[in-house]
Amino acid sequence: MKIIFILSAAHSGSTLIESILDSHSKIFGVGEISHLKKDNICSCGKRITECSLWAEIVSQKEFGSLLVQRSLINFILGRKKFHLIEGNKLKVIVNSTKLINFNFYLYNKVLEKSKATHLVDTSKSIDRLTFLAQCKKIEPIIIHLVRDGRGVAWSHIRKYKKSPLKTMQSWFLFNLMVESLKKKYKYLYINYENFTVNPEATIRKILKLISLKYEEGMLMFNDFVHHQAEGNRMRFLNDNRIRKSEAWKIRLPLKYKRLFSIFFGWMNYYYLKLKQ
Ligand SMILES: [Zn+2]
Repeated sequence: MKIIFILSAAHSGSTLIESILDSHSKIFGVGEISHLKKDNICSCGKRITECSLWAEIVSQKEFGSLLVQRSLINFILGRKKFHLIEGNKLKVIVNSTKLINFNFYLYNKVLEKSKATHLVDTSKSIDRLTFLAQCKKIEPIIIHLVRDGRGVAWSHIRKYKKSPLKTMQSWFLFNLMVESLKKKYKYLYINYENFTVNPEATIRKILKLISLKYEEGMLMFNDFVHHQAEGNRMRFLNDNRIRKSEAWKIRLPLKYKRLFSIFFGWMNYYYLKLKQ
């Protein structure tokens, strides 16, 4: 089972790339499936319990939280000690096999129903990937999507009206963690800004990695119905435009630009120059 995990810091354009990939006849985007709940609204606009794709799948089994996480120290030491996030609480996973099997069941049902050969998971969780990769039947494929960290920081200020320092730190740490994984799995680096300049070339590269052919019309992703079970509000916008989003250049306060450059500028430069 081939699962494309789009790994990116929040606000990096993963929903947009997923929607384009989901417009391919052999690819199905499940969205941020780690947040799957029965009262979610699907991208098609219906509650998932009423959606033509999800209703039957979610009605067959009872399930709780699917959010797995492990501490940074366990990540660094490579320990497979995962916890489950339920509400605001961390719980020990009593039966890992059962939880892995339930995720496998979900993926499998979606593949059956959609007739796709590849799924895209935008949960953006390195821990989820590592947890599920314990199942030998799951073949993870990593799309490492990186957007300019200053753009990510500005997106965070605009949406949450809070200091972006934590976002900058998370952006750095997340990318560092993906770097430590990339040799273990099939991997492709995508630069968000380059993608916006020539989206078709980027999508062709992703398709080449998974041995699928480009299909005309994929970039008009809003002409297709999508069934992402969870994700950001961009899923509901009826807009095919692919924007570079450079508002941060003018609007991100100078003090944050400077702080970012001092601490993380080197990593931003590295990804800007990295061949994709
Ligand atoms: Zn739906």
